[in-house]
Amino acid sequence: MFGFRQWRRRRILRNFPIDDATWQRVTSPFVFVARLHDDERARLKELAILFLHDKQISAAGGLELSVEMKLGIAVQACILILELGIERYEGWVEIIVYPAEFVPRHEFRNPDGLVETDQTVYAGQAWLRGPVILSWANVAHAGDVDGMNVVIHEFAHKLDMLNGTANGFPPLHAGMNRRLWSDVFNAAYHDLRRRVRAGEHTEIDPYATESPGEFFAVISETFFEIPDIVKTVYPQVYQQLALFYRQDPASRPLPREWRLR
Ligand SMILES: [Zn+2]
Repeated sequence: MFGFRQWRRRRILRNFPIDDATWQRVTSPFVFVARLHDDERARLKELAILFLHDKQISAAGGLELSVEMKLGIAVQACILILELGIERYEGWVEIIVYPAEFVPRHEFRNPDGLVETDQTVYAGQAWLRGPVILSWANVAHAGDVDGMNVVIHEFAHKLDMLNGTANGFPPLHAGMNRRLWSDVFNAAYHDLRRRVRAGEHTEIDPYATESPGEFFAVISETFFEIPDIVKTVYPQVYQQLALFYRQDPASRPLPREWRLR
């Protein structure tokens, strides 16, 4: 199977190249791409091509999706799996993009058996073994270096869901300590909750305090966009995330042009 996978991968990369100008234009807003080494950037590009080939990205609500918009989504989704492999996103294919925040049209049965509709407005959603849904208005803001990135957020949920619901406990690699992960994340989650409830300004988006699952998704956004913040505020969480994503983004130098922004 390994041989077939490699052959398939090479065939896709050969048949769907991305020219340098397009790549530059699409990736220039993203600080996490600017910080990559050349070899990492080349691998990110390969992953993005494979991602676009494997996934079906469709527009809803009257939005028109260009090739570059799709590539932008792919690049952001693939930064999470740069050292993990495209296989982590297997088992589902659909990404739906709305023009702006959306109210999903679905019904669910509450514990009493009554059918309810969810009227919450979302910037993004990730379904267990199902689609990722995104608001383009929010995706388009992803270039701001504010630790907020809806694509990274939803795809962190997808990784979390590889062993069931998004509960902040994704499948860890061999050699990682489940107890340590749980202790470190619990402590940080409760610390952030306490600080948010006390009305403190927090460097991490307070939305992280909604649940342990949201904490993992939000802290993943910060980890890739402004890793130094996570490393300073919750160093042990940073360490666990570095082991999980197999990346140490804070160690990558920030290019001069980004320091001046
Ligand atoms: Zn979420």
